[in-house]
Amino acid sequence: MSVSITFLGGAGTVTGSKYLVRHNSHSLLVDCGLFQGYKLLRERNWQRLPLTPRQIDAVVLTHAHLDHSGYLPLLARDGYTKPIHCTPGTRDLCAILLPDSGHLQEEDAAFLNRHALTRHQPALPLYTRLDALHCLKQFRTHAFHKPFEPIPGWRVQFTHAGHILGAASVLLEVGGRRILFSGDLGRTDDLLMTPPEAPPAADTVLVESTYGDREHPAQDMLQELGPALQRLAQRGGVAVVPVFAVGRAQSVLHAIQQLKGQGVLPASLPVFLDSPMAVSTTGLFERYPGEHRLNAQQVHALSHCATMVETTDQSKALARRHGPMVILSASGMATGGRVLHHLALYAGDHRNMIVITGHQAPGTRGARIAAGEKSIRIHGQDVAIRAEVVQLTSASAHADATQTLAWLRRMEHAPEQVYVVHGEMQAADMLRERIAHELRWRAAVPEHGSTATV
Ligand SMILES: [Zn+2]
Repeated sequence: MSVSITFLGGAGTVTGSKYLVRHNSHSLLVDCGLFQGYKLLRERNWQRLPLTPRQIDAVVLTHAHLDHSGYLPLLARDGYTKPIHCTPGTRDLCAILLPDSGHLQEEDAAFLNRHALTRHQPALPLYTRLDALHCLKQFRTHAFHKPFEPIPGWRVQFTHAGHILGAASVLLEVGGRRILFSGDLGRTDDLLMTPPEAPPAADTVLVESTYGDREHPAQDMLQELGPALQRLAQRGGVAVVPVFAVGRAQSVLHAIQQLKGQGVLPASLPVFLDSPMAVSTTGLFERYPGEHRLNAQQVHALSHCATMVETTDQSKALARRHGPMVILSASGMATGGRVLHHLALYAGDHRNMIVITGHQAPGTRGARIAAGEKSIRIHGQDVAIRAEVVQLTSASAHADATQTLAWLRRMEHAPEQVYVVHGEMQAADMLRERIAHELRWRAAVPEHGSTATV
């Protein structure tokens, strides 16, 4: 019997990663992500999967980011009762991210209902915090390089992807075929994370392409962030930095810490980490010393270089402070979370600054701000953007196109087929072209919902 892969997400878009592998009446789902960004994409979260959750025999996660894990609470609520396999780091991060995601879904639905902004009566959350807490019981962890069998006769192994804590590439051996899912690949020169390890040999490769059409600039985050925050400190403004609670928050903190140490920024510049999730994540760096570049002393410094803001009252109290100060807050694309309140409060003043970190999915507020839009809607109100907008092109947690090609080149032999996934159309297609021309491998960009025999 042949092995097939159905691309249920992460095809032609960065979000919604879900790859269904079928063989001999068994089904395994690699990643179970939420669609984010444009409404048209988000509506896919409400569509039924082509099979019922009960028909899935196992789920394997590459890493904890919501575009790879955020659909799990719904899958479990709708009848998936079997294990969810991942690394220990991914489990710990999901325990932080998924309940918060459920909480945000509930808050959004409540907001729409309160302000009668919905044509659905009433608007329902996609899932709740409780749904998320329930699905966490199904998690089973496996160390890197330790093969396991999620389904009898199906062998899975995790290798380091270097993207965030716990992030793995997944090698699946089934029906005599070796299929490699890159997951999100970290960069080789990240200030925080260790680089991805060489990919194991495989017949079929699914490779991410978030930055498939871009190269990272030669300068690092210190060179970009230093002058910007210097300007801010001099004019006494407030910098609002939307950050992903997992990954970017810690990178930016680490960079600020170093800039203060080098005397580029005044040691007294107040920095606030206003995201309980980011605070918890920062704590996890201590638990996984092998997965990042920081030594024990630097990890300690990371948790002490900012004032950790845990409660909503502490968060609201920030509004009474004067600049200069830096506020790091989630979510990273300003799609929700506490950062919205800070943006609403500070975006209108030209002395202030909005620092955009990392990839912004099209259609998100983050992408609109990055594109220079003069006004965005927050909580039903128009908010003028007069603050200086700074984009950190160096802040990506993904390999760029050349680094991705270099990673593929490290494979022992050429795979029979590469599928370029997890990228916007143009990025995916550019990377496909480079794989076809520079490596001379067969490469394709799969369509959403299509199935390939591998
Ligand atoms: Zn990711």
